Amino acid sequence: MEQETPPTEGAPQPEPATSQLEMAATEVGSVFVSNYPPYSQWSEADLERFDAALQATPAADAPPLGMYLHIPFCRKRCRFCYFRVYTDKNADEVQTYCDALAREVEAYAQLPFTQGRPLRFIYFGGGTPSYIAAKHLAELVHRIRDAFPWTDVEEVTFECEPGTLTRPKLENIRELGITRLSLGVEHFNDHILQLNGRAHISTEIDRVIPWVQEIDFAQFNLDLISGMIGETWETWRDTVEKTIDTDPDSVTIYQLELPYNTGISKEFMEGTLDVPLADWQQKREWQLFAIERLEEAGYHVSSAYTMVKGEGSFRYRDSLWHGADMLGTGVSSFGHVGGVHVQNTANWVEYLGAVGEGRLPVQRALQTTETDRLIREFILQMKTGKIQAAYFDKKFDTNVMERFAAPLKALESAGMATLRGDGFDLTMQGLLQVDSLLPGFYDERHRNARYT
Ligand code: SF4
Repeated sequence: MEQETPPTEGAPQPEPATSQLEMAATEVGSVFVSNYPPYSQWSEADLERFDAALQATPAADAPPLGMYLHIPFCRKRCRFCYFRVYTDKNADEVQTYCDALAREVEAYAQLPFTQGRPLRFIYFGGGTPSYIAAKHLAELVHRIRDAFPWTDVEEVTFECEPGTLTRPKLENIRELGITRLSLGVEHFNDHILQLNGRAHISTEIDRVIPWVQEIDFAQFNLDLISGMIGETWETWRDTVEKTIDTDPDSVTIYQLELPYNTGISKEFMEGTLDVPLADWQQKREWQLFAIERLEEAGYHVSSAYTMVKGEGSFRYRDSLWHGADMLGTGVSSFGHVGGVHVQNTANWVEYLGAVGEGRLPVQRALQTTETDRLIREFILQMKTGKIQAAYFDKKFDTNVMERFAAPLKALESAGMATLRGDGFDLTMQGLLQVDSLLPGFYDERHRNARYT
């Protein structure tokens, strides 16, 4: 679960708190902003705009094109999970799904919208992509390569859960052309992993990391979560030190979100959760500790959630945050084509049925306006902690420092941002709670809308 893959994690998305400069209590609720306008504004009515976008010949200056593939299987459901995942599918069902996924990709390859447009980035997310057998994965990749040549692909990310990997499987993954391996470690402590319902244990992490290093992927990302239930300063410090010892190219750290539909949230609301939940302030302190330790170890901040060594590019994230087109494939996936947001059905039977009948399995869409796209890129790029006004001047002919003068002034007064003539920087305090700041930049008509 690498949530910096915002628009494409399985549905439903968490419900962010409405605008606030400071949200004190964690308890249950979420602040993560993955897309804009809010999902509640998307509807079946705009599916015809999606169809029209797919039939249009791409403009000469069309943005880069990427693809997301959702692999919705996990060995076990984490207690904090809110994604569309299945833990009960057998090998035949996985095979059926992979076949449908390939057919969906092949259908996109026939449409005018994709003609002459090479894929620039590919993302296998979930769920757990590494759950599927090497044979199924190889078949899937070969069919994608037949539909869309990979000659111009700059990055192929693949999310893995440690307990699903063997050395031969990792070698296969590398040979298939994966450049960025993202390992969902989340924590190194067995008690915390078990308490939070993770499928893997620390010996599996310890076994896998030397393989990942020896096989030498172009990029190795390690995922952590701060504030899982049972977390203490001692366990968090130890996990951060072990992370540094593994020497990944990048470290992604999320603060635990608890939308209302997770196992932990339900237990909390029923009064049966017997472990205290960390509040937002505590989670930010843990996040800050990790950032500072990683900086000492040679990493630098790439976004509110990611620390990188060296250049540390993340093509998928940066493309989406700069308005790329993306084909979202798989059950419940999100995509963006020619200014239209779209989401696939989150229903397994409907998904397989639609693909089987030769239809794209889409469920809802939203035709965005130029203003929507400006705000979307602005708030997503805020997650890097830095906004360059010149980018928006050039792309949207808009001076964002004037357009957003009032909310920016509020951020500055609250110590969340430092304004410059040519843009602004978030302070560390602002960066640590960036998602809670973003609704302040929404268009008036979307500010009080439900998020999902
Ligand atoms: S690994 Fe856990 S959090 Fe991630 S998708 Fe699977 S069940 Fe959900």
